[in-house]
Parts: sequence; structure tokens; C-alpha cells
Amino acid sequence: MLNNYQRSADKLMNSLRSQGIQDEEVLNVMHNTPRHVFIDDVLKHKSYENTALPIGQGQTISQPYIVAKMTEVLRQIGIKDNILEVGTGSGYQTAILAQLFDKVFSIERIKALQWQAKRRLHQLDLYNVSMKHGDGWQGWQSKGPFNGIIVTAAAATVPESLLLQLAEGGAMIIPIGVEEQVLTLFIHRNGQITQQPIASVKFVPLVAGPII
Ligand code: SAH
Repeated sequence: MLNNYQRSADKLMNSLRSQGIQDEEVLNVMHNTPRHVFIDDVLKHKSYENTALPIGQGQTISQPYIVAKMTEVLRQIGIKDNILEVGTGSGYQTAILAQLFDKVFSIERIKALQWQAKRRLHQLDLYNVSMKHGDGWQGWQSKGPFNGIIVTAAAATVPESLLLQLAEGGAMIIPIGVEEQVLTLFIHRNGQITQQPIASVKFVPLVAGPII
């Protein structure tokens, strides 16, 4: 990474630590993943700020704190592989997941974003990700069940098909709500699904409509 980016990345990691992120492996991977690769030229100078940023098509790259938090929660549960991500977007969260979990599947409804994300992942030599242009509300049944599901857009209601694709012992982290959104953790254990709130959040909506 270029020197000035390196210093900004150091600062960002300190800010994630001060916000309560404790998983050193997550911090290490985020520190070494160039977020500026996932951001358009005009906004590159903001790449290491702890904020969401526009990525075109009315979408945003998630705030680093949220990326760290969602990833940390899945790892705390002991999940190691077979992750489904819904909402590839820029591909930044995907790149973090690809370095911490053995196999990652990612779905995006906007083709242009999906293509761009795929190119960026290859640029970083990450090849353990399968990508699909499709509707995340349906999940990816032929590749499931998944040990972890991470949804990076807010669902107005709990997507039942995603819960059905959760393996025994698996967990799904997803923002639920429209105006008021709650990052919610669902755990599938002993044939039962339990849920718990993690944080109040603000994501773009998980769109129910045709893919574009
Ligand atoms: N993790 C991404 C977040 C991007 S924003 C990042 O940090 O870059 C959320 C993404 O979810 C957008 O790219 C949006 O197009 C996508 N999305 C919204 N509804 C969707 C759906 N029904 N199926 C798949 N992707 C969806």
C-alpha cells in the first residue's frame, strides 16, 4: 500500500479498536486490504475514513466499523467456511470475508456493480469467491446450506428463504427494518432459530424487485 494510505489505515484500525472491535485477525485483514481499490477516483482521499461512501447506482460501500462488526460476530460464533453474502456492492466486505473464511458466495442485483467487484477481487488475487447476479431475497439454494449468511442491505421483513438456507450451527447477520433498522443476529441451533439485536444501523434497502 502507498505510504500515505498506510498511515490512514493505521489510524482507521485504532478507531475501530476504540469502537470496541477486538478480533485481531479481522483488524489485521482490514488493515492489509486496500479499501481505496473499492472506491471511485473522486472519493479515494476518503477511503480510510470510518464512513460509508457512495459507489454509484445509489448504493454505498459500508462503513468500516460495520464491516468489522459483522465479520467479528460471525467469527465469534465459530464459523469458518461456506458464507453467503447478499449485496456484493463494491466487493470490499467480500474481500474481507474471502481472507477469513474458506469459501464465500456473494449475490448482487446490479450487474455493473457485480462485474466491477469481481474485477477488484481478482486484482487482489482473491479467488475463493463465487459471485452471482441475482436476487438476494431468494438466497442461493443450490450452494447452501451456509454456515454464515451476511446481508449488507436492510430487509423490510426477515427473508424466510435465507433462514431456510442456514445450516445447523450456522448464523445470519442482517439489518432488519426500513427507517429504524436493527442489525440482528439469527442463530440456527438444535433445529431452532433464535434472534438477538446487535446494534442500531443505517443501510441502503434490500430491494424487492427485478435485478438490473
Ligand atoms: N457490502 C457492500 C454493500 C453495498 S450496499 C459494500 O460494502 O460495498 C448494498 C448492496 O446490496 C448494493 O450493491 C445493492 O445493489 C445490493 N442489493 C440490494 N438489494 C438486493 C437484492 N435483493 N439482491 C441482491 N443484492 C441487493
